[in-house]
Amino acid sequence: MKVCVLGAGESGVGAALLAQQKGYEVVVSDFGQISDERKNILKKHNIHFEENGHSIDILESSGLFIKSPGIDNRSKLIQNLLIADKEVIGEIEFAARFYQGKIIGVTGSNGKTTVCSLIYHIMHHAGMNVELGGNIGKSFAGLLLALKQPDWLVLELSSFQLEDVYRFKPDIGLQLNITPDHLDRYDYLIEHYAAAKFRLNQNMQAEDVLLYNADDDYIKGALDQLEAQQIGLSFETATENLVSQFNVDLSRMKLQGLHNYFNGLIAGKACELAGVTKDEIKRHLESFSPIAHRLELVLTHKNVEYINDSKATNIDACKYALMAMKSDTIWIVGGVDKGNDYESIQTLIDQHVKACVFLGTDNEKLIKHFEKTEIPYKEAGSMQEAIDKADDFAEEGDVVLLSPACASFDLFNNYIDRGDQFRVLVHKKYR
Ligand code: ADP
Repeated sequence: MKVCVLGAGESGVGAALLAQQKGYEVVVSDFGQISDERKNILKKHNIHFEENGHSIDILESSGLFIKSPGIDNRSKLIQNLLIADKEVIGEIEFAARFYQGKIIGVTGSNGKTTVCSLIYHIMHHAGMNVELGGNIGKSFAGLLLALKQPDWLVLELSSFQLEDVYRFKPDIGLQLNITPDHLDRYDYLIEHYAAAKFRLNQNMQAEDVLLYNADDDYIKGALDQLEAQQIGLSFETATENLVSQFNVDLSRMKLQGLHNYFNGLIAGKACELAGVTKDEIKRHLESFSPIAHRLELVLTHKNVEYINDSKATNIDACKYALMAMKSDTIWIVGGVDKGNDYESIQTLIDQHVKACVFLGTDNEKLIKHFEKTEIPYKEAGSMQEAIDKADDFAEEGDVVLLSPACASFDLFNNYIDRGDQFRVLVHKKYR
């Protein structure tokens, strides 16, 4: 049967190479332009590709379609394929058909990358044969191209990826949380978004274990029909459980904040289920450093800490960042607003924020909100200006926190560019 890979992204190219390795005739078809780097990979492997549109010939002659997670299932393209009785699956579903090892699958609106990286870090340093991929780094299919498959795979899975799984199942599943995100793809119904996330556990059996956030009502509401074993973990007891179960010395842990203690606990539990000893878990929970752009300590100058939390593109993420602050904070916030309600975190703002710098092309909403408070603010139109204005407020013992609660596209390419500029400019100024 001819396989058509729709979309030549990281997962599309991985799927095409895997399909070819498994003996399928493969073609890659992209609605837009394919990057030169990916074209070269496809050419090197003699995989036929087309770009800037899907030709009828290719669509008609293919039987199995592996679609990029970016393609909406409601689109005409997918609807027409389904009407024509074609099989349409995602790269995760396809790759799973060729993998014999064990899977730890992680989904959630926030915390996926941190938890996956932490599980990988612990298992890898404990000497297990493990790889990390999915929505982070290499695709699942790409990881299977190596001659020898790993015993364990830690897979970060987005709701878009999970929409297209059917028989896939993890041995250990993690449901971190469900908060409104990407709702434009889900008819603005959080139930639809949650349903996509629950496809993670739809096939899990009695021998499998689902670790879940017991504070999340959406997740709890979906557990009834589940066959898998279930272990609920709560934010309320996360800190004490991290200490009592894994003997972690919190002062040695580089990950800080309640959300990260929860992340540590759930990651530790997953590793324990995978066979890592408690001693090893303790050691590597303590040795794990925060990933870039997630409460990353850039440097300390004159006893002022500069923290890069550029990944915080919504209010919920900022809530956890502010909760983690142990000193008076100068908060660099702003960008492209995604419907933020600053009132919802006002108590935390009052507790932690001593001054603000609004970094965006349109700061109207922030100004309107903060004018009602006593908290002083300044505006900035570039990262350099934001750092300089934050420094006008900063005194010994304070924290300068970049945690924007907004998307970055008004002034930066993406959150990585925003966080990188912060890091580079702070280093330049103080190193
Ligand atoms: P994702 O990969 O799901 O986007 P990240 O690990 O990159 O998640 O973290 C993104 C942001 O989400 C972090 O900067 C932090 O503010 C917030 N966050 C991390 N872990 C959690 C959690 N367990 N619950 C809620 N928010 C979290």
